[in-house]
Amino acid sequence: VNPKPGVSGKPPYDDSNIFARILRGEIPCRKVYEDQWCLAFHDINPQAPHHVLVIPKSPYISFADFSAGAPDAEIAGFIRAVGHVANMLGFEESGYRLLANMGPDSHQEVPHFHVHLFAGRPLGPMLV
Ligand code: ADP
Repeated sequence: VNPKPGVSGKPPYDDSNIFARILRGEIPCRKVYEDQWCLAFHDINPQAPHHVLVIPKSPYISFADFSAGAPDAEIAGFIRAVGHVANMLGFEESGYRLLANMGPDSHQEVPHFHVHLFAGRPLGPMLV
């Protein structure tokens, strides 16, 4: 879709990715929370009893894109929304894990920045 690299040499955002399509309402999701900054929905292939994805509404590929490219209000709004989702689902006491994969070494499959929220069982030590 975007075969040419951008000016920076990095690939540009591919707006045919599955999360962009979810954001446009082209494919459904099981929504958990939404506000002006984010959409949170259940992962289609859950790796824990609760596995929610929180994604910014704007097109960022990686955490670096997001942290460098988003206005301060959006960064604050998104980070607060992640915390709000964890609270809303009731995991503040029992605990939960946040994880974000970036790029090939981390097996990022969907090139739209997203935070995984895992909860609902002891999650064990973090494996890298
Ligand atoms: P990985 O697949 O290695 O975890 P990512 O960090 O990019 O890579 O995560 C993408 C996540 O999106 C996966 O957990 C996958 O199950 C989830 N996913 C893919 N398609 C959908 C969809 N249509 N609705 C909800 N979750 C989805």
